[in-house]
Amino acid sequence: MKHLVMLGAGHAHLHLLSTLAAQPMASVQITLVAPYPRQLYSGMLPGFVAGHYALEDCVIALAPLLANSGVTHLQRSAVGLDAEARRLTLDDGSTLGYDLLSVNSGPVQDRAKIEQMIPGAREHALFVRPIELFGALWPQVLALADSRALQVVVIGGGAVGIELSMAVAHSLKGASVTLLAGDAALAASYPPAVQARVVQALKDRHITVIRERACGIAAGEVLLGNGAQLACDVPLIAIGAQAPAWLQGSGLVLDEQGFIAVNEYQRSSSHPQVFAAGDVSSRIDCQLARSGVYAVRAGPALAKNLRAVLAGVEPDSYRPPDKTLNLLSTGDRGAIASWGNWSAQGRWVGWLKDRIDRGFVKKYRLPARR
Ligand SMILES: Cc1cc2nc3c(=O)[nH]c(=O)nc-3n(C[C@H](O)[C@H](O)[C@H](O)COP(=O)(O)OP(=O)(O)OC[C@H]3O[C@@H](n4cnc5c(N)ncnc54)[C@H](O)[C@@H]3O)c2cc1C
Repeated sequence: MKHLVMLGAGHAHLHLLSTLAAQPMASVQITLVAPYPRQLYSGMLPGFVAGHYALEDCVIALAPLLANSGVTHLQRSAVGLDAEARRLTLDDGSTLGYDLLSVNSGPVQDRAKIEQMIPGAREHALFVRPIELFGALWPQVLALADSRALQVVVIGGGAVGIELSMAVAHSLKGASVTLLAGDAALAASYPPAVQARVVQALKDRHITVIRERACGIAAGEVLLGNGAQLACDVPLIAIGAQAPAWLQGSGLVLDEQGFIAVNEYQRSSSHPQVFAAGDVSSRIDCQLARSGVYAVRAGPALAKNLRAVLAGVEPDSYRPPDKTLNLLSTGDRGAIASWGNWSAQGRWVGWLKDRIDRGFVKKYRLPARR
């Protein structure tokens, strides 16, 4: 019997899991390796921080998806991969062999790397990833904010830092919020019209934007690249969607940033027994932004190709859309939408984002089965 190992319960794997009870894979043993019994949907995290959602609203429980699917869940993380030997090493030291491996384990905030760039981050900062840990720790910030007006410094001028700084400004009344944007433009991956909307939205919410890098964190302060010290109660690390360090030395061909290089079939360009989708992968045939939208879109194609390969059929190529609808929440139930160079903003965009996000969670939130 062939053994398919699904690594990570990311967006694309949720789709495959949701199909397995109705369309089982005959004569295939399937193991899901994922560290938590649920997936917290990142798209709703800024809304959680802003106080619009309870954490439970953002949760997709795995147990109902796994029921009757024939999948065994190992609640573990991978810490190593030997692609030649077709073997994963898990965080309890055990190993797991496979015939076919599908990786959808997302990006990481590599704490060792971030600590090198920003000494003191490990000890003093709150990291956005793993999202499960962030979700567990955020209530402590809320409790602290009950006792005094906090100084919050969000480190990272990309979409995540922008959304979180506006969410924090909305929920922690009286807090001073600073966004440390580094030396790149704010929302650098967005067109100029969106960048201008972002700048104005931050200004309207009295968020101080500093174009400097954080180069150290100590108790009560963040050190800036220009030598200044910024008083800070809560340094929030919103930089980095990095490749997991355990991919180094796996033998897989990786891109220059260490993500798994995959072809038009979402298949490793070096090891055909390995498929990968979402942020952990990097297409060699087209440039894609790392985003939940692309991870979601990859799900059906990945599921179809895994089924095909296990049935001895050639996989089909998958072409991701060139443009996607991007929605940046602005903390106050509003949002900024963009599609290529087109952009719009307002409460109606926030309403649309809420509908899409809740719709995603609802799609995979099955009633518990016996
Ligand atoms: C605050 C925030 C808001 C965001 N908002 C948006 C948005 O509105 N729209 C958008 O498109 N993108 C958004 N993103 C980006 C989005 O989160 C990522 O692009 C998306 O999560 C990538 O999906 P994925 O399926 O590749 O991985 P993930 O969603 O990260 O899922 C990976 C899964 O693998 C598991 N895993 C991790 N490591 C291991 C391991 N070693 N072994 C086994 N399992 C492992 C994780 O626990 C998780 O279950 C946001 C990100 C953040 C942090």
